[in-house]
Amino acid sequence: MIRVGLGRDLHRLVEGRRFLLGGVAIPADKGELGHSDGDVLAHAVIDALLGAAGLGDIGELFPPSDPKWKDADSMELLKTAWDTVRGAGWRLVNLDCVVSTEKPKLLPYREKIRVSLAAALGISPEAIFVKGKTGEGLGLIGEGLAVEALAICLLER
Ligand code: MG
Repeated sequence: MIRVGLGRDLHRLVEGRRFLLGGVAIPADKGELGHSDGDVLAHAVIDALLGAAGLGDIGELFPPSDPKWKDADSMELLKTAWDTVRGAGWRLVNLDCVVSTEKPKLLPYREKIRVSLAAALGISPEAIFVKGKTGEGLGLIGEGLAVEALAICLLER
């Protein structure tokens, strides 16, 4: 059996926060606001994996109302979510992601992000891809107010 899963998240960009994508800290003027560490890509990937397996979503597993998840390391959340999905017998075939942000440019960090996500998920970086897009100066993304991540995965069992 194969299943696809889709995840999407958006975080505000503010000064004084780190800009994290898939566990990689990227130098930037602003970073992601969030109850956890704000890693928007990790959050989108979690929802893609859980959605494909039909095992809930990030808000159910790690409720923002629970102080336990304050400043949580999102890559640890990802590992926990993946343990749940893997425990149900699923294998990750591939994961593809799009990150939309006006700044910074993601290309120099792509390989690091792929390797970081692959390590958390226990698969080859070749099975993971990440693309950066801008907002063409328009809207929340283009004006640098937010960063958005989309993730799609294929699971097999
Ligand atoms: Mg989030």
